[in-house]
Amino acid sequence: MNANASPIVLDGRALAREVREELKVRVANLKARGVNPRLEAVVAAQDPASLAYVEMKKKWAGWVGIESGEFLVTADVSQTQVLDHVAKLNADPKVHGVLIQHPLPGHIDEDLVLESLGAEKDADGITSHSLGLLTAGLPGFRCATPLGITKILDAYNIECQGKNALVIGRSNILGKPMALMLLEKNATVTIAHSRTQNLAEICREMDIVFAAVGRAEMVKGDWLKPGAVVIDAGYNKVEGRATDVGDCEYESCAAVASAITPVPGGVGPMTVASLLANTVDAAEKSLV
Ligand code: NAP
Repeated sequence: MNANASPIVLDGRALAREVREELKVRVANLKARGVNPRLEAVVAAQDPASLAYVEMKKKWAGWVGIESGEFLVTADVSQTQVLDHVAKLNADPKVHGVLIQHPLPGHIDEDLVLESLGAEKDADGITSHSLGLLTAGLPGFRCATPLGITKILDAYNIECQGKNALVIGRSNILGKPMALMLLEKNATVTIAHSRTQNLAEICREMDIVFAAVGRAEMVKGDWLKPGAVVIDAGYNKVEGRATDVGDCEYESCAAVASAITPVPGGVGPMTVASLLANTVDAAEKSLV
Protein backbone atom coordinates (compact mmCIF):
# COMPACT_ATOMS: atom_id res chain seq x y z
CA MET A 1 0.00 0.00 0.00
CA ASN A 2 1.65 3.23 -1.11
CA ALA A 3 0.85 6.80 -0.23
CA ASN A 4 -0.88 8.33 -3.17
CA ALA A 5 -2.15 11.83 -3.86
CA SER A 6 -4.89 10.28 -6.01
CA PRO A 7 -6.20 7.28 -4.13
CA ILE A 8 -8.34 4.57 -5.66
CA VAL A 9 -11.92 5.59 -5.05
CA LEU A 10 -13.76 2.45 -3.97
CA ASP A 11 -16.94 2.84 -5.96
CA GLY A 12 -19.67 1.05 -4.00
CA ARG A 13 -22.34 2.48 -6.24
CA ALA A 14 -20.88 0.88 -9.38
CA LEU A 15 -20.28 -2.40 -7.56
CA ALA A 16 -23.86 -2.42 -6.25
CA ARG A 17 -25.07 -1.99 -9.84
CA GLU A 18 -23.14 -5.13 -10.84
CA VAL A 19 -24.50 -7.07 -7.85
CA ARG A 20 -28.06 -6.06 -8.72
CA GLU A 21 -27.62 -7.18 -12.33
CA GLU A 22 -26.52 -10.63 -11.08
CA LEU A 23 -29.41 -10.76 -8.62
CA LYS A 24 -31.89 -9.91 -11.36
CA VAL A 25 -30.82 -13.03 -13.26
CA ARG A 26 -31.02 -15.20 -10.13
CA VAL A 27 -34.48 -13.84 -9.31
CA ALA A 28 -35.69 -14.55 -12.86
CA ASN A 29 -34.43 -18.14 -12.49
CA LEU A 30 -36.26 -18.48 -9.17
CA LYS A 31 -39.47 -17.15 -10.69
CA ALA A 32 -39.16 -19.63 -13.55
CA ARG A 33 -39.12 -22.33 -10.85
CA GLY A 34 -42.21 -20.92 -9.12
CA VAL A 35 -40.50 -19.04 -6.29
CA ASN A 36 -41.16 -15.29 -5.94
CA PRO A 37 -38.53 -13.86 -3.58
CA ARG A 38 -40.16 -11.60 -1.01
CA LEU A 39 -38.71 -9.13 1.50
CA GLU A 40 -40.88 -7.70 4.29
CA ALA A 41 -39.98 -4.68 6.42
CA VAL A 42 -41.11 -3.68 9.89
CA VAL A 43 -40.62 0.06 10.26
CA ALA A 44 -41.52 2.99 12.53
CA ALA A 45 -44.32 4.92 10.82
CA GLN A 46 -43.30 8.27 12.26
CA ASP A 47 -39.59 8.19 11.51
CA PRO A 48 -38.98 9.93 8.15
CA ALA A 49 -35.37 8.68 7.89
CA SER A 50 -36.40 5.05 8.50
CA LEU A 51 -39.24 5.35 6.00
CA ALA A 52 -36.85 6.80 3.42
CA TYR A 53 -34.34 3.94 3.96
CA VAL A 54 -37.09 1.35 3.62
CA GLU A 55 -38.48 3.02 0.49
CA MET A 56 -35.01 2.96 -1.06
CA LYS A 57 -34.54 -0.72 -0.16
CA LYS A 58 -37.97 -1.54 -1.62
CA LYS A 59 -37.15 0.40 -4.78
CA TRP A 60 -34.01 -1.65 -5.44
CA ALA A 61 -35.77 -4.85 -4.39
CA GLY A 62 -38.39 -4.14 -7.05
CA TRP A 63 -35.66 -3.41 -9.59
CA VAL A 64 -34.18 -6.90 -9.21
CA GLY A 65 -37.67 -8.46 -9.10
CA ILE A 66 -37.98 -9.07 -5.35
CA GLU A 67 -41.51 -8.44 -4.08
CA SER A 68 -41.77 -6.41 -0.91
CA GLY A 69 -44.18 -5.26 1.75
CA GLU A 70 -44.04 -3.36 5.01
CA PHE A 71 -45.66 -3.25 8.43
CA LEU A 72 -45.90 0.30 9.74
CA VAL A 73 -45.47 0.55 13.50
CA THR A 74 -47.58 3.53 14.59
CA ALA A 75 -47.98 4.84 18.14
CA ASP A 76 -51.12 2.74 18.60
CA VAL A 77 -49.52 -0.54 17.46
CA SER A 78 -48.67 -2.58 20.56
CA GLN A 79 -45.65 -4.74 21.31
CA THR A 80 -47.87 -7.83 21.08
CA GLN A 81 -49.11 -6.80 17.63
CA VAL A 82 -45.55 -6.36 16.35
CA LEU A 83 -44.53 -9.75 17.77
CA ASP A 84 -47.64 -11.36 16.26
CA HIS A 85 -46.81 -9.84 12.90
CA VAL A 86 -43.21 -11.14 13.01
CA ALA A 87 -44.53 -14.58 14.02
CA LYS A 88 -46.76 -14.53 10.92
CA LEU A 89 -43.79 -13.56 8.72
CA ASN A 90 -41.74 -16.39 10.28
CA ALA A 91 -44.47 -18.87 9.41
CA ASP A 92 -45.21 -17.58 5.90
CA PRO A 93 -43.33 -19.65 3.27
CA LYS A 94 -43.86 -16.84 0.74
CA VAL A 95 -41.66 -14.50 2.82
CA HIS A 96 -37.90 -15.07 2.42
CA GLY A 97 -36.37 -12.05 4.16
CA VAL A 98 -37.47 -9.73 6.96
CA LEU A 99 -35.92 -6.36 7.71
CA ILE A 100 -36.51 -4.88 11.17
CA GLN A 101 -35.58 -1.27 10.48
CA HIS A 102 -33.81 0.37 13.43
CA PRO A 103 -35.04 2.32 15.37
CA LEU A 104 -38.53 1.07 16.17
CA PRO A 105 -40.70 3.48 18.23
CA GLY A 106 -39.79 3.85 21.92
CA HIS A 107 -42.76 1.86 23.21
CA ILE A 108 -41.53 -1.24 21.36
CA ASP A 109 -38.77 -3.47 22.77
CA GLU A 110 -36.65 -3.70 19.64
CA ASP A 111 -34.38 -6.43 21.02
CA LEU A 112 -37.40 -8.62 21.77
CA VAL A 113 -38.72 -8.10 18.23
CA LEU A 114 -35.33 -8.92 16.72
CA GLU A 115 -34.96 -12.05 18.80
CA SER A 116 -38.40 -13.24 17.69
CA LEU A 117 -37.30 -13.25 14.05
CA GLY A 118 -36.32 -16.63 12.63
CA ALA A 119 -32.61 -16.77 11.73
CA GLU A 120 -33.47 -18.24 8.31
CA LYS A 121 -35.33 -14.98 7.43
CA ASP A 122 -32.86 -12.54 9.01
CA ALA A 123 -31.79 -10.98 5.70
CA ASP A 124 -30.14 -8.09 7.55
CA GLY A 125 -28.08 -10.56 9.62
CA ILE A 126 -28.55 -8.65 12.88
CA THR A 127 -30.23 -11.05 15.29
CA SER A 128 -28.12 -12.57 18.09
CA HIS A 129 -28.53 -15.93 16.35
CA SER A 130 -26.97 -14.61 13.12
CA LEU A 131 -24.23 -12.81 15.06
CA GLY A 132 -23.56 -16.04 16.97
CA LEU A 133 -23.20 -17.98 13.74
CA LEU A 134 -20.74 -15.37 12.46
CA THR A 135 -18.79 -15.52 15.72
CA ALA A 136 -18.60 -19.32 15.50
CA GLY A 137 -17.64 -19.19 11.80
CA LEU A 138 -20.76 -21.15 10.86
CA PRO A 139 -22.96 -20.57 7.79
CA GLY A 140 -25.75 -18.03 8.26
CA PHE A 141 -26.82 -14.61 7.14
CA ARG A 142 -24.09 -12.05 7.53
CA CYS A 143 -24.86 -8.53 8.64
CA ALA A 144 -25.59 -6.46 5.53
CA THR A 145 -23.33 -3.43 6.03
CA PRO A 146 -20.09 -5.26 6.94
CA LEU A 147 -20.92 -7.91 4.33
CA GLY A 148 -21.18 -5.15 1.72
CA ILE A 149 -17.83 -3.80 2.88
CA THR A 150 -16.16 -7.21 2.47
CA LYS A 151 -17.54 -7.31 -1.10
CA ILE A 152 -15.88 -3.93 -1.76
CA LEU A 153 -12.57 -5.22 -0.34
CA ASP A 154 -12.81 -8.36 -2.50
CA ALA A 155 -13.78 -6.49 -5.66
CA TYR A 156 -10.76 -4.20 -5.35
CA ASN A 157 -8.41 -6.99 -4.28
CA ILE A 158 -7.59 -5.31 -0.99
CA GLU A 159 -5.55 -7.87 0.92
CA CYS A 160 -6.46 -8.13 4.60
CA GLN A 161 -4.34 -11.14 5.57
CA GLY A 162 -1.67 -10.11 8.04
CA LYS A 163 -2.67 -6.44 7.86
CA ASN A 164 -3.36 -4.28 10.89
CA ALA A 165 -7.02 -3.29 10.69
CA LEU A 166 -8.76 -0.81 12.98
CA VAL A 167 -12.53 -0.82 13.37
CA ILE A 168 -13.77 2.35 15.06
CA GLY A 169 -17.18 1.55 16.58
CA ARG A 170 -18.53 -1.57 18.27
CA SER A 171 -22.25 -1.65 17.47
CA ASN A 172 -23.92 -5.01 16.89
CA ILE A 173 -24.92 -4.02 13.35
CA LEU A 174 -21.58 -2.70 12.23
CA GLY A 175 -18.44 -2.51 14.34
CA LYS A 176 -18.56 -5.96 15.99
CA PRO A 177 -19.55 -7.98 12.91
CA MET A 178 -17.06 -5.98 10.82
CA ALA A 179 -14.26 -6.94 13.21
CA LEU A 180 -15.30 -10.61 13.07
CA MET A 181 -15.40 -10.62 9.27
CA LEU A 182 -11.92 -9.07 9.18
CA LEU A 183 -10.74 -11.79 11.53
CA GLU A 184 -12.13 -14.32 9.03
CA LYS A 185 -9.96 -12.57 6.45
CA ASN A 186 -6.92 -13.08 8.70
CA ALA A 187 -6.41 -9.41 9.55
CA THR A 188 -5.01 -8.45 12.93
CA VAL A 189 -7.95 -6.51 14.29
CA THR A 190 -8.17 -3.68 16.81
CA ILE A 191 -11.59 -2.38 17.89
CA ALA A 192 -11.89 1.20 19.13
CA HIS A 193 -14.87 2.88 20.82
CA SER A 194 -15.83 5.98 22.76
CA ARG A 195 -13.56 5.10 25.71
CA THR A 196 -10.49 4.34 23.59
CA GLN A 197 -7.48 6.43 24.55
CA ASN A 198 -5.14 7.96 21.96
CA LEU A 199 -7.26 6.95 18.99
CA ALA A 200 -5.32 9.07 16.49
CA GLU A 201 -2.05 7.40 17.55
CA ILE A 202 -3.53 3.91 17.26
CA CYS A 203 -4.96 4.83 13.87
CA ARG A 204 -1.52 5.89 12.56
CA GLU A 205 -0.28 2.30 13.02
CA MET A 206 -3.03 0.81 10.85
CA ASP A 207 -3.02 -0.51 7.28
CA ILE A 208 -6.82 -0.42 6.99
CA VAL A 209 -9.18 1.84 8.92
CA PHE A 210 -12.93 1.20 9.14
CA ALA A 211 -14.95 4.08 10.54
CA ALA A 212 -18.39 3.19 11.95
CA VAL A 213 -18.95 5.90 14.50
CA GLY A 214 -21.64 8.38 13.52
CA ARG A 215 -19.50 11.51 14.09
CA ALA A 216 -19.08 13.72 11.07
CA GLU A 217 -15.52 13.86 9.73
CA MET A 218 -13.94 12.64 12.98
CA VAL A 219 -11.03 10.80 11.32
CA LYS A 220 -8.57 13.28 9.82
CA GLY A 221 -5.88 12.70 7.22
CA ASP A 222 -3.13 13.22 9.81
CA TRP A 223 -4.50 10.22 11.76
CA LEU A 224 -3.54 7.94 8.89
CA LYS A 225 -0.42 6.05 7.98
CA PRO A 226 0.53 7.02 4.40
CA GLY A 227 -1.05 4.52 2.01
CA ALA A 228 -3.70 3.28 4.44
CA VAL A 229 -7.01 2.03 3.10
CA VAL A 230 -10.00 3.96 4.46
CA ILE A 231 -13.49 2.47 4.60
CA ASP A 232 -16.04 4.98 5.81
CA ALA A 233 -19.44 3.59 6.84
CA GLY A 234 -20.60 6.84 8.44
CA TYR A 235 -23.63 8.76 7.30
CA ASN A 236 -24.04 12.09 9.04
CA LYS A 237 -26.32 15.01 8.34
CA VAL A 238 -24.53 18.32 8.70
CA GLU A 239 -26.39 21.60 8.59
CA GLY A 240 -25.57 23.58 5.48
CA ARG A 241 -24.14 20.56 3.61
CA ALA A 242 -26.13 19.33 0.61
CA THR A 243 -25.21 15.66 1.08
CA ASP A 244 -24.49 13.45 4.08
CA VAL A 245 -20.87 13.29 5.18
CA GLY A 246 -18.88 10.35 6.45
CA ASP A 247 -17.00 9.73 9.69
CA CYS A 248 -13.77 10.52 7.84
CA GLU A 249 -12.77 13.93 6.53
CA TYR A 250 -12.68 12.98 2.87
CA GLU A 251 -10.27 15.57 1.44
CA SER A 252 -7.55 15.18 4.07
CA CYS A 253 -7.89 11.38 4.22
CA ALA A 254 -7.90 11.01 0.43
CA ALA A 255 -4.64 12.97 0.30
CA VAL A 256 -2.91 10.26 2.39
CA ALA A 257 -4.83 7.05 1.66
CA SER A 258 -4.11 4.53 -1.10
CA ALA A 259 -7.83 3.75 -1.41
CA ILE A 260 -10.98 5.24 0.11
CA THR A 261 -14.75 4.86 -0.01
CA PRO A 262 -16.65 8.07 -0.81
CA VAL A 263 -19.74 9.19 1.12
CA PRO A 264 -22.22 8.94 -0.46
CA GLY A 265 -21.58 6.25 -3.04
CA GLY A 266 -19.32 3.90 -1.05
CA VAL A 267 -20.59 1.63 1.70
CA GLY A 268 -24.29 2.63 1.59
CA PRO A 269 -25.23 1.16 -1.83
CA MET A 270 -23.46 -2.11 -0.99
CA THR A 271 -25.45 -2.41 2.26
CA VAL A 272 -28.68 -2.43 0.26
CA ALA A 273 -27.22 -4.80 -2.35
CA SER A 274 -26.17 -7.22 0.42
CA LEU A 275 -29.63 -7.17 2.01
CA LEU A 276 -31.10 -8.09 -1.37
CA ALA A 277 -28.45 -10.77 -1.94
CA ASN A 278 -29.26 -12.34 1.44
CA THR A 279 -32.96 -12.36 0.50
CA VAL A 280 -32.23 -14.09 -2.80
CA ASP A 281 -29.98 -16.60 -1.00
CA ALA A 282 -32.88 -17.34 1.38
CA ALA A 283 -35.30 -17.81 -1.53
CA GLU A 284 -32.83 -20.18 -3.25
CA LYS A 285 -32.51 -22.19 -0.02
CA SER A 286 -36.29 -22.65 -0.04
CA LEU A 287 -35.88 -24.73 -3.21
CA VAL A 288 -33.67 -27.36 -1.64
P1 NAP B 1 -23.89 3.36 16.96
O1 NAP B 1 -24.70 2.19 17.32
O2 NAP B 1 -24.24 4.71 17.49
O3 NAP B 1 -22.37 3.04 17.36
C1 NAP B 1 -21.37 4.01 17.26
C2 NAP B 1 -20.08 3.46 17.79
O4 NAP B 1 -19.10 4.50 17.69
C3 NAP B 1 -20.15 3.04 19.27
O5 NAP B 1 -19.53 1.79 19.42
C4 NAP B 1 -19.40 4.14 20.00
O6 NAP B 1 -18.67 3.70 21.12
C5 NAP B 1 -18.41 4.58 18.94
N1 NAP B 1 -17.99 5.97 19.17
C6 NAP B 1 -18.76 7.05 19.45
N2 NAP B 1 -18.00 8.14 19.62
C7 NAP B 1 -16.73 7.73 19.47
C8 NAP B 1 -15.47 8.41 19.55
N3 NAP B 1 -15.37 9.71 19.82
N4 NAP B 1 -14.36 7.68 19.32
C9 NAP B 1 -14.42 6.37 19.05
N5 NAP B 1 -15.58 5.67 18.96
C10 NAP B 1 -16.71 6.37 19.18
O7 NAP B 1 -23.80 3.57 15.38
P2 NAP B 1 -23.91 2.48 14.18
O8 NAP B 1 -25.30 2.10 14.03
O9 NAP B 1 -22.85 1.46 14.33
O10 NAP B 1 -23.54 3.43 12.95
C11 NAP B 1 -22.28 4.06 12.84
C12 NAP B 1 -22.29 4.97 11.62
O11 NAP B 1 -22.52 4.17 10.47
C13 NAP B 1 -23.39 6.02 11.61
O12 NAP B 1 -22.91 7.17 10.94
C14 NAP B 1 -24.50 5.38 10.79
O13 NAP B 1 -25.33 6.34 10.15
C15 NAP B 1 -23.68 4.64 9.78
N6 NAP B 1 -24.34 3.48 9.18
C16 NAP B 1 -24.20 3.33 7.85
C17 NAP B 1 -24.76 2.25 7.22
C18 NAP B 1 -24.57 2.14 5.76
O14 NAP B 1 -25.26 1.37 5.13
N7 NAP B 1 -23.63 2.86 5.20
C19 NAP B 1 -25.48 1.30 7.93
C20 NAP B 1 -25.59 1.45 9.30
C21 NAP B 1 -25.02 2.55 9.93
P3 NAP B 1 -19.39 3.14 22.47
O15 NAP B 1 -19.78 1.72 22.13
O16 NAP B 1 -18.32 3.22 23.49
O17 NAP B 1 -20.57 4.01 22.73
